[in-house]
Amino acid sequence: MKLIVANFKMNLLIKDIHNYLEVIEQKLNKDQVIFCPNNLHIKYFSEKNYLVGSQDISFQEYGAITGDTSINQLKEVGITYTIIGHSERRQYFLDNKYINKKVKLALSKQIKIILCIGENLKVFEENNTFSVLKDQLDNALKDNLNYINETNLIIAYEPIWSIGTGKIPTNSCLEKTILNIKTYLKETYNLNLKVLYGGSVNLDNIDSLQEVSEIDGYLVGSLSLDPNKFLTLINKINN
Ligand code: PEP
Repeated sequence: MKLIVANFKMNLLIKDIHNYLEVIEQKLNKDQVIFCPNNLHIKYFSEKNYLVGSQDISFQEYGAITGDTSINQLKEVGITYTIIGHSERRQYFLDNKYINKKVKLALSKQIKIILCIGENLKVFEENNTFSVLKDQLDNALKDNLNYINETNLIIAYEPIWSIGTGKIPTNSCLEKTILNIKTYLKETYNLNLKVLYGGSVNLDNIDSLQEVSEIDGYLVGSLSLDPNKFLTLINKINN
């Protein structure tokens, strides 16, 4: 079964969430899909026993960080997962600096991690993708290895130039990059981790993406905002 993560980013209002929940009611496998709505909307999904993740966590457990949300507060409303290192957090905030701390904190609180890694277009065009991905993995994993296993860490490979652009890597490129990630994790850290693909997954490209054997699931942004389209996508993935 392929894992599917829905990242709503900073979208939707409470009325949209109620409508969303009505549309998807009894139509999906609750073990397959992890919803990552805005923090204010998490409880609506957890109350109905969906798997829920936050889109980020504060690097600190509590204290004087105005505007941030702590992992304890997020656990209280029902997350069991968190995304860490999404490229939008790396771009607009100081996430590169805090990813290792966030990974450590999530592991210590038994929250499962969806770790996003990905290269920008310049790196891709210069054929340096793997060295960037390796650095991002090393940065997240160092000093955390004793606590990481196949069940609490999932990698999401998201080329930055694919997010929200409609452009995706070719199948052969994806097959190679994801295999490289898996091989590196196995050989260097003795970890067999699931690797998801994220970046402009939509109803037109999903059939082709399904041919990439190394993809263990998908992280879906904008398409997941429409519950009907999202259900159609899930059906395509499962058939
Ligand atoms: C994302 O937010 O990680 C993402 C993959 O977005 P989109 O599907 O819109 O490209």
